[in-house]
Amino acid sequence: MSRITPLSLGFANAILVQETGAIMIDTGAPATPETYRQFFARCAIDPQEIRLIVITHGHTDHFAHAHELRELTGAPVLCHSKALTALRAAKNPPVHPRNELGESVLRMIAGKEPPASQPLEPDILIDDEYDLAYYGIAGKVIPTPGHTDCSVSVVLDSGAVMVGDMIVSSPFTGQATIAYLAEQPELLFDNVRRLLSFGDLFYSGHGGPFSREQVRLALQAEV
Ligand SMILES: [Zn+2]
Repeated sequence: MSRITPLSLGFANAILVQETGAIMIDTGAPATPETYRQFFARCAIDPQEIRLIVITHGHTDHFAHAHELRELTGAPVLCHSKALTALRAAKNPPVHPRNELGESVLRMIAGKEPPASQPLEPDILIDDEYDLAYYGIAGKVIPTPGHTDCSVSVVLDSGAVMVGDMIVSSPFTGQATIAYLAEQPELLFDNVRRLLSFGDLFYSGHGGPFSREQVRLALQAEV
């Protein structure tokens, strides 16, 4: 059984997954080391029990505090090899709105994006599927490009999927929507459809979790 606990921060969520082992997905933002200490205390887990930190993609609101989280837990940081430039630079690559919603959100958050605390050298780079059994988690990390070319998702055998920003809550309506920022929109849609074939509950960096039905409706709204 998976125990999944999102940590909702002001800008983006982090997610704790506990099975035989425990991993964190993204860092969320903004946060301080104390934010994480209190969260782990609430979840009754020793930070040193965290075995892996998965960064879903190279946007700062998802990796901002990877340095602090690695210090606190001693866990390695994993990301796609194409996220390396952003993590090393500690800043966002250019983002690409694919619709009006994306343009509105970018105007709204201009200058408010949480900065990354410092440049980060990740410990594990992947280009392909990566099994999580070694970390005591029944599931895998899979590349799911589209929102960014470095996007990955965590797919658990239990049916839960952590999608990063591929599916997010609209800041205006609160409804599930397919990422309004996308480097490759067609790939994004293909990968959201692929994830629907694996999962039944979709945890996001912004809002959520979303049911299959909510994701289906979000896809339908695009055509
Ligand atoms: Zn993003």
